[in-house]
Amino acid sequence: MFLEPHFRGQRSGWIEVICGAMFSGKTEELIRRLKRAKIANQRVEIFKPKVDTRYDDAKVVSHDANYILSTPISHSSELMELSEGVNVVGIDEAQFFDADLPDVCTKLALRGIRVIVAGLDMDFRGRPFGPMPNLLAMAEYITKVHAICKHCGNLATHSYRLTNTPDTVVLGEKDLYEARCRTCYHMGNILDLHSSEKSEKGLKPEKRKLA
Ligand SMILES: [Zn+2]
Repeated sequence: MFLEPHFRGQRSGWIEVICGAMFSGKTEELIRRLKRAKIANQRVEIFKPKVDTRYDDAKVVSHDANYILSTPISHSSELMELSEGVNVVGIDEAQFFDADLPDVCTKLALRGIRVIVAGLDMDFRGRPFGPMPNLLAMAEYITKVHAICKHCGNLATHSYRLTNTPDTVVLGEKDLYEARCRTCYHMGNILDLHSSEKSEKGLKPEKRKLA
């Protein structure tokens, strides 16, 4: 668990990054940190890219429907004006932002703002995603959270896409992606075949019982 640093009242800004695969609880962790800051009467603002319209336009929503209101923005430069007088800035789905985001976060931190960024560290090809690698290099604090591999139960670090679409950005949930460990990720669709065989076998006795 991330414990907030303590500066004895001295005003100081910094960057925190929460990264990991899909279904690893990044947004839940972002929400937890922001809610704690709110309880301490700090002024908190949350932003997300306009591209992410999976759940709701104005809310940062995690998979368990625990949410806080956010402002959708189209470019990281908008953060400068929108963060006037704010103590803590939360940014969700940072991988979809433009390449200027790390510099903007640095400027916000220099203003004395605590910047908490959550995002996918790798795309479905297993490559560093958008501005995330630079953010990770420039942040004071990094938390890598893990999902659980659906196939073997080890910690999952990769987001495996279940469809053949070549586009890097395909928004979707459990119907399109699953979290996998490194080994299962590299086994690719061999595992898809295994799991469909297993579920077919599992269904047969049930069917017989019903008949
Ligand atoms: Zn695995």
